[in-house]
Amino acid sequence: MGLFCAATTRLMSRRRIEFTTRLARFLATATVAAVAFFATPSDGRASPTRFDALPRASERLTQPVWLPHCGMRIVEWRPTAALRTETTMTDQALKVIDDTCQNAFAHYAEFLRARRLPRLRGEPDVLPAISFLPGNTLLDGKTPRALNDLPSRFEAVAPGCCYWGLYVDSLNHLFVRNDPLMKDDSGELVANPRFVRTLTHEISHVLSSRLGVWDIVGYDRDRDEDLAEDFVSFMGMHFPAESSAEDLALHRGRSPRNRPSVDSATARAKVPSQAPPSASANTSPQR
Ligand SMILES: [Zn+2]
Repeated sequence: MGLFCAATTRLMSRRRIEFTTRLARFLATATVAAVAFFATPSDGRASPTRFDALPRASERLTQPVWLPHCGMRIVEWRPTAALRTETTMTDQALKVIDDTCQNAFAHYAEFLRARRLPRLRGEPDVLPAISFLPGNTLLDGKTPRALNDLPSRFEAVAPGCCYWGLYVDSLNHLFVRNDPLMKDDSGELVANPRFVRTLTHEISHVLSSRLGVWDIVGYDRDRDEDLAEDFVSFMGMHFPAESSAEDLALHRGRSPRNRPSVDSATARAKVPSQAPPSASANTSPQR
């Protein structure tokens, strides 16, 4: 958490809330409740609670969509009008998501062993539900109920902007950008490597929590964040999280010349050859 947002203009992928003891859970809930009760904002608007992050009844899919290799259900999906084909829930988009889960899940135990991290369970306990939401702050990522809508949705669980994915342990809910697909140079829809990176990062948060890693070693947010980034690298993705401006340029086919390739030596993740720009490009203003 300490790394994100505040001092940089980069969109950081992720962030989660974890409470490691029942006392912490109680105190946090009590704090949220107290803030909601006592701190009336100057505009008279009630501060969101963590439950405002969850999809409302009207936002939920009529039928949740089961992802077999994720072991999770999609309960909410909102496309981005400006990138309709890339952000609509299609069979191709669902396959990118499920394939990403399959790859990540297949290698997570190996990853934990390599990092000498213990786990409480051989299989994850209850996995989260997922919402796919607009995340690009230069398009609709900050509109009401989108991924970076802090004022009316995520303020209680994600105090800083901006992010591409958010796992809220206390809600057992995963919120992720909505663009599994992108158009390649020929206009064909292909897997979006930046989305795959984000989801892989979030899966580390989900699995480390649900396998009970933190129950044994004690939760530390920075360590969890470092572990998620380490897992992204372990899965063969060595490009950094991108800004909204870079994401937009890539979606619109104005890619930077230098496209770092995925580590072909590991090549665990089935990521196309197109990849996000180098770190030197991560200076575009976000807001
Ligand atoms: Zn993270």
